[in-house]
Amino acid sequence: MGLMIPDGRKEWGKIMDSTVLVVEDNELNMKLIQHLLTVGKYQILKAGSAEEGIELARANRPSLILMDIQLPGMDGLDATRVIKSDPSMRKIPVVALTSFAMAGDEQKAMEAGCEGYITKPISTRTFLQELSVFIEA
Ligand code: MN
Repeated sequence: MGLMIPDGRKEWGKIMDSTVLVVEDNELNMKLIQHLLTVGKYQILKAGSAEEGIELARANRPSLILMDIQLPGMDGLDATRVIKSDPSMRKIPVVALTSFAMAGDEQKAMEAGCEGYITKPISTRTFLQELSVFIEA
């Protein structure tokens, strides 16, 4: 039996093969995202910096990258530009994690090449649905 996700395009069974790379330096946010992705049956790769995220993206080709904008050292915008300028990674959707408090982050994220954004604080109720839009079965 296949449990359909809200947009009705695919079944959970297919999503189970999907790996999401999370680039996030805030441990509490990372724990929350990890919990939600686990509930959604995603495989998870975690990075605490842009540099580590790029490395993991290149080595593992995840189905999706969740990219925090504010990171120590290189920020999420520059990391996205690196990913989108690399032929081996540019097709991986990058969804920015933008902060409600930082006006203009959404615009900057889209200009840097992100396919979309999710605004923090993360809504535990809608997060998986928001994410599913960006993942192809
Ligand atoms: Mn951050």
